[in-house]
Amino acid sequence: MRYIRLNNTPNHQVLHQKLAALENAEAALVATSGMAAITTTLLTVLSHGDHVLLQDTLYGGTYQFILEDLGRLGVSYDFIGIEDPRAWEKKLQHNTKAIYVEAMTNPLLQVIDLEEVVRFAKSNHLVSMIDSTFATPVNFRPVEHGFDISLHSATKYLNGHTDIVGGAVIGSRSWIDKVTHKLNHFGGSMDPHACYLLHRGIKTLGIRVRQQNRNALALAQFLEQHPRVTRVNYPGLESHPAYAQSSRLFDGFGGMLSFELDMDVEGVEAFLSRLTLPIIAPSLGGVETLATRPATTSHAGMSPDDRAALGISDGLVRVSVGLEESSELIEDFEQALNG
Ligand code: PLP
Repeated sequence: MRYIRLNNTPNHQVLHQKLAALENAEAALVATSGMAAITTTLLTVLSHGDHVLLQDTLYGGTYQFILEDLGRLGVSYDFIGIEDPRAWEKKLQHNTKAIYVEAMTNPLLQVIDLEEVVRFAKSNHLVSMIDSTFATPVNFRPVEHGFDISLHSATKYLNGHTDIVGGAVIGSRSWIDKVTHKLNHFGGSMDPHACYLLHRGIKTLGIRVRQQNRNALALAQFLEQHPRVTRVNYPGLESHPAYAQSSRLFDGFGGMLSFELDMDVEGVEAFLSRLTLPIIAPSLGGVETLATRPATTSHAGMSPDDRAALGISDGLVRVSVGLEESSELIEDFEQALNG
């Protein structure tokens, strides 16, 4: 029987096959948002009484779900950092069931030792999950590297045109069957018209992401040598702490970067207002370049002290690089920096 909520219309099926093929996995499932994909997967993998290890700088929505709901449902958790994989061992409990990380963190673009995450998960019989939204299947295919489940906010690069909300879960047939069963109950199924738009967006995924990789690398290199820029966070720069691993694992370093200026917050705001090509807005992964100050958008709910503890200064600027000519983008950032 075909029925939209059961995720089995032709629009769903063709997308599932395409997403699985893109990450060289057995199967895939779309959901009505990235959060629907993430929460449904977590609630499939984890049950009352289980314990999970989570990367300590997760996307805010995921983090809030964990704080507000996972604990309430009887799942305990501990956070692990990027610094020392040996410290993860100490957080293991007899009931640790899974480990959950992100391919690159927002907004600092940190990359946890992903090879070590897989080794650690396998040697401790944990289910490994990764939110690979920032990496995209063009740059990183988690299942090829041993992850059990890859997750995406399809609202971002997969669709690429900032005109739908969607999510995806990619992995083995047996995991996808289990997550589908739960999604059928929870009802977070993607609308078939959104499936059609996502399918259309994915047709240009390769060409978009490769251009975004090139543009972001060029912009990061330009910013790094500019005298008013004090720090650039981009895994494609040799100065990035995970450059070696990122070069090994990723086919491109993605379209996201962040940086700090030698200016106070008013100066940074004035710099942003001088930019003419980027739109000053949150979200990411679309065709236009977007710039934001995370202290006022994605991390506005945190206190300045908590942000500082994570390394997110009030002046930090995050950029989602789009498809513009890289020379024009750089010219625009240059005039705004020098203005
Ligand atoms: N994961 C990451 C890395 C994100 O950036 C976002 C949204 O910004 C999400 C998940 C949630 O996705 P959605 O907004 O599609 O629910």
